[in-house]
Amino acid sequence: MSFSSLGLCDELLKAVAEQGYETPSAIQLEAIPAVLSHRDVMAAAQTGTGKTASFTLPMVQRLANGKRPGARQVRALVLTPTRELAAQVAESVQNYSRHLNIRSSVVFGGVKIGPQISKLRGGLDVLVATPGRLMDLYNQRAIDFDHLEVLVLDEADRMLDMGFIHDIRRIQKLLPAKRQTLMFSATFSKEIKALAKGMINNPIFVEVAVANSTADRIKQVIHPVDKSQKREVLVHLIKENNWHQVLVFSRTKHGANRLARQLDSAGIQAAAIHGDKSQGARTRALDNFKKGNILVLVATDIAARGIDIDQLPYVVNFDLPQVPEDYVHRIGRTGRAGADGLAVSLVSIDEYKQLKAIERVIGHQFEREIIAGFEPKDKASAPSAETAKRPPRRQGQGQRRSSGNAAPRGRSSH
Ligand code: AMP
Repeated sequence: MSFSSLGLCDELLKAVAEQGYETPSAIQLEAIPAVLSHRDVMAAAQTGTGKTASFTLPMVQRLANGKRPGARQVRALVLTPTRELAAQVAESVQNYSRHLNIRSSVVFGGVKIGPQISKLRGGLDVLVATPGRLMDLYNQRAIDFDHLEVLVLDEADRMLDMGFIHDIRRIQKLLPAKRQTLMFSATFSKEIKALAKGMINNPIFVEVAVANSTADRIKQVIHPVDKSQKREVLVHLIKENNWHQVLVFSRTKHGANRLARQLDSAGIQAAAIHGDKSQGARTRALDNFKKGNILVLVATDIAARGIDIDQLPYVVNFDLPQVPEDYVHRIGRTGRAGADGLAVSLVSIDEYKQLKAIERVIGHQFEREIIAGFEPKDKASAPSAETAKRPPRRQGQGQRRSSGNAAPRGRSSH
């Protein structure tokens, strides 16, 4: 199946080809025709599946055919939970609509509001926004929603997790009832269905077995270690295997800062991103990471949500997430868009309950691998029956590219 069979116009097909996409992803195959039919859509899809293009392409096609926006009017509104995701979605909108007459922009908190008010003055076809700043702009009468045609809620589950429910409800009341609404979420939880009620009208449901296909391409390894050894193990793994572009997850902001500092002093360039960092600092860190100026980005779950980097090769869980579903989100950062990835978790004895919960959600037990020289002294974090002791590792590229046979096969958590 090709993009041209999905009903997209030539300008969009050209933009897609320029992005280097050859075949539509599963979510794109299902969502693009659904959105083009002007029906409401509820889609279960995680980051890394190509979900952004699956709503952006058909949405801009619809907008390209309609009436231009008047002063302060917004024709399509995309709400996202984080600034990073907002910036990345806006970049996608710009890229995909480059051959069309579409005016788009992005607004989020943490930066001056004045320039955002100016950008809205002439009206926009697409506005990508985080909920808090959008409400501020509305309260300052900078936006007119009377001609809104499309509302997109991206990563709706995250928006609920982050407490945006009231803002979303408030925003919904400001929008015309007659509109197209698209809701994207990692899962269709009870809370998501409750949010959709009254917001979405007779939707087409689109669901792709993301966790499955993602997990198939990602080698997931558990290294049992003592808590006190985690930092040394991480330094060892990065140096020994020459890892680059490593995204490391830390449970706390404080932990992220400390680890980034410690890596730096061990000679591994690192930066931390989390909610307490200014927008400028986050953007700089992400830029440097993309360019390869820093090798390691240490992030908290929320800050990492919006990071979109092609083929991120290594993800490390320095701490296991408290919520099992976050594990799926985290490893979804690697192995995206057809590339292989390696997801490594450093697990100490106090995290075994979390590990079991994650394995229940994923539906299988991970391979455990003790690293020679870093055997856990704590007996209870010794490997379980299926665990093999490995010689010192030299995995480098070879391991990352290892065939699917070696990788444990995940099952969808839906
Ligand atoms: P998303 O799930 O929207 O965050 O997209 C994940 C990544 O996949 C992005 O870097 C996109 O540029 C890329 N991507 C989206 N659609 C395709 C496609 N059809 N073929 C290859 N890469 C794609």
